[in-house]
Amino acid sequence: MTITIHRGTDQIGGCVTEYEYNGWHLFVDYGEELPNGPKTGELQVEGLTHGNLSKSALLITHYHGDHIGSITKLPEALPIYMGEVAREIQKVLSNHLKTVMPAHQEMVKLLQKVQTFKAGHDFTFGPFKIRPVTVDHSAFDAYAFRIEADGVSAYHTGDFRLHGFRSNKFFKMLEQFVGKVDYVVCEATNIMRPNATSKKESALQRDFVSLFKEKKSTVVYLSSTNIDRLFSLYHAALKAGRPFYVDGYQKQIMDVVVNSKSIWTNSPLYQYGKYKPESLLYHKSDKNRFFVSDSFKEFLDKKGYVIIARSSERFDNLLEQIPGEKQKVLSMWNGYVKEGTEAYNENLANSLDGEYDYMHTSGHIDMKDLRKFFHQLRPKAIIPIHTDSPDEFVKLFCDEWPVIRLYDGLSISLTSISGVDLCGTKI
Ligand SMILES: [Zn+2]
Ligand SMILES: [Zn+2]
Repeated sequence: MTITIHRGTDQIGGCVTEYEYNGWHLFVDYGEELPNGPKTGELQVEGLTHGNLSKSALLITHYHGDHIGSITKLPEALPIYMGEVAREIQKVLSNHLKTVMPAHQEMVKLLQKVQTFKAGHDFTFGPFKIRPVTVDHSAFDAYAFRIEADGVSAYHTGDFRLHGFRSNKFFKMLEQFVGKVDYVVCEATNIMRPNATSKKESALQRDFVSLFKEKKSTVVYLSSTNIDRLFSLYHAALKAGRPFYVDGYQKQIMDVVVNSKSIWTNSPLYQYGKYKPESLLYHKSDKNRFFVSDSFKEFLDKKGYVIIARSSERFDNLLEQIPGEKQKVLSMWNGYVKEGTEAYNENLANSLDGEYDYMHTSGHIDMKDLRKFFHQLRPKAIIPIHTDSPDEFVKLFCDEWPVIRLYDGLSISLTSISGVDLCGTKI
């Protein structure tokens, strides 16, 4: 079995990995490059973007744009697989965005033919045995894959973390569903923060409960598909006794999760409590505004509120109309409001207007947890991807593990890699 990382050996966005054996090609992820990262442009990959596709398939780890965003550019004949709930969430998101972004119109169509897999249920594609393993990430229904062919196994981590709500079962799950593997193809987003410990999602939730109790009126800006944070905020609002408001689109996403048959949705975190989230009403004659009645204002004034917002005219207008001294919170990566970068979101910065609390924790594993993870898996070697500094990764982990620093487009055989000198360690 050979591995080729077509993109992602030295950038975070747009990773594309290929596992090949005996003329069969199994690809993982086909997303967009990040706005503030380096650009390689359109990829040309035989068996994926063109050529003979009869022995090719694509697996999608999760619905973040840097993993799925470019699949509409691929030939129609290519079979694509992803998680079932992830596909439903992507459908709602694309339906919401299709009027302003035509690519999402294509995505809605394409999703009809995307096939799904289930956590822990093996399936095969040609000579490949694939086991999807559910992981905790800021996207819901995200997966790692255990991929085996030619007597060699690799664990492809996708994006993941060990400080989320669903992380405490991770090592047990790893033991049960992954066992021993030869290689780990590992995300290393946070490599430039080698000593940082990420705040636990549960600790962040406690902070939100305190904030909602203390402040009567809070407006939280977060990504509409950060499901764990969304439900965390909802339950924090319930605990603090504050009414919880979202717009119709956000409510639709919450309903998808609550009504899904994911292995996680037995957890009370993904269920509605005593009061359901309330949908904000749209103005009958002007869909660009929310309807704010006097009785609604009175109610908000009496009880306070937690509103989940996104930067838009509609939300800006709502906040102007409703009472209360509003505490604004940014609960997503703050790079979006750093002026002078390509990721800068002017509308979001304007909506926040400089006065806000920053309450967030990373969707990606920190380096201390990553070491624990390697200790359990004990691979023959590690291949970093989804990272802006592979060389730092080599430096950090080669004290204990052989690290293969690959370059975009370079193929290596995982079957006969013996004798390669890695960090001074012969494997
Ligand atoms: Zn992600
Ligand atoms: Zn990613």
